[in-house]
Amino acid sequence: MEKAETPLQQVHATIAKVCKIARRKADDVTLIAVSKTHAADAIVPLLEQGQRHFGENRVQEAQGKWPALRERYPDMTLHLIGQLQSNKAEDAVQLFDCIHSLDRPSLVTALAKAFDKVGRKVPCFVQVDVGEEPQKGGCPVAELPALLDQVRAAEIPLAGLMCIPPFEIEPAPFFAFLDKLARDHGLDGRSMGMSGDYETAIMLGATHIRVGTALFGERG
Ligand SMILES: *Cc1c(COP(=O)(O)O)cnc(C)c1O
Repeated sequence: MEKAETPLQQVHATIAKVCKIARRKADDVTLIAVSKTHAADAIVPLLEQGQRHFGENRVQEAQGKWPALRERYPDMTLHLIGQLQSNKAEDAVQLFDCIHSLDRPSLVTALAKAFDKVGRKVPCFVQVDVGEEPQKGGCPVAELPALLDQVRAAEIPLAGLMCIPPFEIEPAPFFAFLDKLARDHGLDGRSMGMSGDYETAIMLGATHIRVGTALFGERG
């Protein structure tokens, strides 16, 4: 009898299937396992299966569990996918290898300062408020060109654009819109797609998908 597939294997199989249809290389899509609310004992099995990109949405929660895990798996990459307060920028730069939620001028300033102080720079995605939902964070679409200019002037490594489309509406138009914005601004990275919609996001050009529930089950 064949061994049952793990959730990680299932998600990889889906990514491979969609990439084939989209005529894309599966290697061009980075799977970020979103481990927020989950303890180390739920995360270690994924690390043991070779998963190396993880996402957290709170600095403080990540500080509590990732330093010990990183010691055991030093080749891993930790992504901050949640909103970042300027006064946590330095902590974030110390712990995270990539930030997906750069969304306002004051945070550009805070991150540039944190990079200087910590002595390293990490790539950042600029989050765009595609659904006009300011509570989720994200730069208003009209302010994106000015923010990107500021990011470039501050010499912050710019990975691309990120979005969280409104829930309970077909996400495809929002993904297509983010893809267009990224193209218009000459950016390669598109951080978009979660457990419920990552296939659609890959079809529409996602380079980084952020998947929690499909890998870990429902959050408590
Ligand atoms: C929690 C979260 C995810 C993962 O959501 P799932 O539906 O569990 O896959 C992705 N992106 C962000 C920004 C999140 O906060």
